[in-house]
Amino acid sequence: AKEKGRNTYEFFSKRLEEKNERKAWIGTQLRKAIEFNEFELHFQPKHNVQSKVILGVEALIRWQHPEMGIISPDQFIPVAEETRLILPIGEWVLRTACKQAKQWSNQGHSLVISVNVSVQQFLQEDFVTRVQYALAESGLSPEFLNLEITESLPMFDFDTVIVKLNQIKSLGVTISLDDFGTGYSSLSYLSEIPFDYVKIDKSFVKHIHTHSVHSSIIQSVISIAHTLNRKVVAEGVECEETLHFLQESGCDEVQGFYLHPPLTSVQMEKLLQLGRYS
Ligand code: C2E
Ligand code: CA
Ligand code: CA
Ligand code: CA
Repeated sequence: AKEKGRNTYEFFSKRLEEKNERKAWIGTQLRKAIEFNEFELHFQPKHNVQSKVILGVEALIRWQHPEMGIISPDQFIPVAEETRLILPIGEWVLRTACKQAKQWSNQGHSLVISVNVSVQQFLQEDFVTRVQYALAESGLSPEFLNLEITESLPMFDFDTVIVKLNQIKSLGVTISLDDFGTGYSSLSYLSEIPFDYVKIDKSFVKHIHTHSVHSSIIQSVISIAHTLNRKVVAEGVECEETLHFLQESGCDEVQGFYLHPPLTSVQMEKLLQLGRYS
């Protein structure tokens, strides 16, 4: 048993070493990525649940590494957060997304663009000014910008968070509480946080058919959100049955592979030219 214990220890420390090396590697490469413009935005449509009309898109970052190919955000966003490189990256996302939405608006397509904002970015003292700047620079109307902020945010200084959210809202920008169901947020947060949309995480949506508890929770969240005059978006809709359940439950908007995967700006433009339907 002693022998086995040591092997296990060695195994884990080796794994840890590899993990740290990989993180360091990503960190170094990320610095270059900013400099050499290796990032790109893809856009996933958000649909009205009943009509399936496209109301907006979520901007999702992609990293095209010159040798490694596409590196998924789940791999590099956590490292970017640790190294604070998420600040320049997030800034780039915000400004690029606003410019793209303005361009579509000039072509006659008024789409709301949703931008993921990391907690560190949101906690920057001048974050509200940065949002204002991105709007002014692009000429995008504030009502076409939506910020998706992860639900763990209220874990930070609650009063400061609320003040800042209200400042953003007073610009005319809307707020979504992202990844709902994955963290520790309680339902009481829902009444205290000034958000416009709650976005139910795909890990919940995925289990609608196998875990009846999940479908009941989703129905409760929809009902509470509506009582508070907020809207509900479900992400990760992968099949007709899930869409049907969400339609029946009175969910407002849906997003998912069943409707559209994230698209390049070229693909998005083609879709818009066909008309704004699914
Ligand atoms: P998220 O904010 O929860 O975004 C939704 C993720 O679900 C996206 O993954 C999207 O491609 C994926 N998805 C969409 N529809 C479906 C579906 O039907 N089924 C399944 N299984 N997945 C679906 P993606 O693009 O890989 O992004 C992963 C995460 O990385 C995002 O999760 C978000 O937390 C983060 N992220 C992406 N772009 C940005 C960004 O610009 N800034 C920041 N701070 N984070 C970002
Ligand atoms: Ca999101
Ligand atoms: Ca997120
Ligand atoms: Ca999510």
